[in-house]
Amino acid sequence: MSTIVGRSARPRVARRALLTVRVVDGLQSITADPGGTALFFDVDGVLAPIVERPEDARVPTPTRRALEALRDRYALVACVTGRPSEVARGIVGVEGLTYVGEHGLELDPDARDWAERIHGFAVEVPWSDIEVKPLSVAFHYRTAPDPDAARRELEPVAAGALDLGFRSRWGRMVLEVLPPVEASKGTAVRRLLEQSGLRRALYAGDDTTDLDGFAALDGLDAAVRVAVVSAEGPAELGERADVIVGSTESFRELIEQL
Ligand SMILES: [Mg+2]
Repeated sequence: MSTIVGRSARPRVARRALLTVRVVDGLQSITADPGGTALFFDVDGVLAPIVERPEDARVPTPTRRALEALRDRYALVACVTGRPSEVARGIVGVEGLTYVGEHGLELDPDARDWAERIHGFAVEVPWSDIEVKPLSVAFHYRTAPDPDAARRELEPVAAGALDLGFRSRWGRMVLEVLPPVEASKGTAVRRLLEQSGLRRALYAGDDTTDLDGFAALDGLDAAVRVAVVSAEGPAELGERADVIVGSTESFRELIEQL
């Protein structure tokens, strides 16, 4: 059963105290051995609040401080994101973390062979908010006046991408077009765990692609899956989580306890 923090609580003080105790209990399996534990964080919607324009995203200073403290104590602190890793590095602003971008595509050498064709596909699509990344493309519709209509307009784009042999994926107010290779946040997490030999891990995410990150912890000696839930995010994420928080601020409070 999931532990929920950061949602409206009544009576506030008593319930908050109770929940804090329960969260600490749930996290004990990884806080007991920082030197043998990996921490995996999605960036947007987990470390950085979701903003209207993706280019404005920033990790708040208190969260940076918390990440620096974790970096100095845990065996591995990795940001696993859909953004290119260099962009994520700028948004997070903490050196010494591991950054894996584009949903694990950066770790797959075959992805590069598709990039040019995907970029060529994207320039033909008349869309105002296109994010061209080194290995993939994202069609955002967060700022569209009618998001449902915008999504309907993007459905033929998704179909066209599939016809050309690409992959497509829907996220929070975004359609992504990607190379058809077996790369995900899950493959990235598994590779980092294998490389490091670590058997204890926490993964935190807020969106559909983070379900792969959750699944990648299966079979470890200790695993904690944290969902940052929102109305936009998939219900399944909360259902599969060990700990649920309701905002990036509550998530920062949680990692301050690690
Ligand atoms: Mg996210």
